[in-house]
Amino acid sequence: MRRFLIAGNWKMNCGPVDAAELLEGLENAKTEVAEEVDVLVCPPFVSLGMSVNYLQDTDIHVGAQNIHFEDNGAFTGEISASMLTECGCSFVIIGHSERREYFGETDSSVNKKIKKALAFDLVPVLCVGESLDQRKQDIHFDLVKNQVTAALEGISGDEALDVVIAYEPIWAIGTGETASKEQAQEMHAHIRGVVADLYDQETADEIRILYGGSMKPANAEELLSQPDVDGGLIGGASLNAESFAEIISIAEKLS
Ligand code: PEP
Repeated sequence: MRRFLIAGNWKMNCGPVDAAELLEGLENAKTEVAEEVDVLVCPPFVSLGMSVNYLQDTDIHVGAQNIHFEDNGAFTGEISASMLTECGCSFVIIGHSERREYFGETDSSVNKKIKKALAFDLVPVLCVGESLDQRKQDIHFDLVKNQVTAALEGISGDEALDVVIAYEPIWAIGTGETASKEQAQEMHAHIRGVVADLYDQETADEIRILYGGSMKPANAEELLSQPDVDGGLIGGASLNAESFAEIISIAEKLS
């Protein structure tokens, strides 16, 4: 039985002052404790420490939005996996489409980062997804299959169980446009099939696959009701405490 994971990707928003305000809002907005749902917030690096401290007596997990794949050294501006665990992080987003598009991340760097995250007991949230152009060309299933396969290369079945996959169609990120529930379900089922081919059906049945792309309270229920959708990676709506809390409640209700 897969538990929902509702994850907020704050992107380059909320330094420590705004982060504290957002977390306080989230605490106030949460009417029920989400017992059946895993909740994660991914603030920018500078707000990780305060978020971990702020949330220490709660069940809300804190994750980062990126790591470097080396342990340490002359990599100006980068953050290592051990730094994140030292900070109290337990998750890390890897291969977000914005990082692939603007910061030159490749399937190969994504694979190295996933291996490094796993080595440091950080749960990698592996992002995959196609552009609108790729969907129009009808190559989206192959593209996502290749992204998942490349990202998991050299990772054992046991380790893969600790990976969360997020299907994020690029055309739906930050655009207000969402994949329909049918589009989400068919791609999630496809990804689960890819995982079954790479490992086995048991692994595929256990791995969590989140949907990301303009998820908000108004569409969360229909997306989260799909059999292969195990949660959401939420950008814009996670910056609003009420909206994020509402999505958590919807997931709780569906659990
Ligand atoms: C994201 O950045 O992962 C995302 C899904 O953003 P949004 O919800 O704003 O589309």
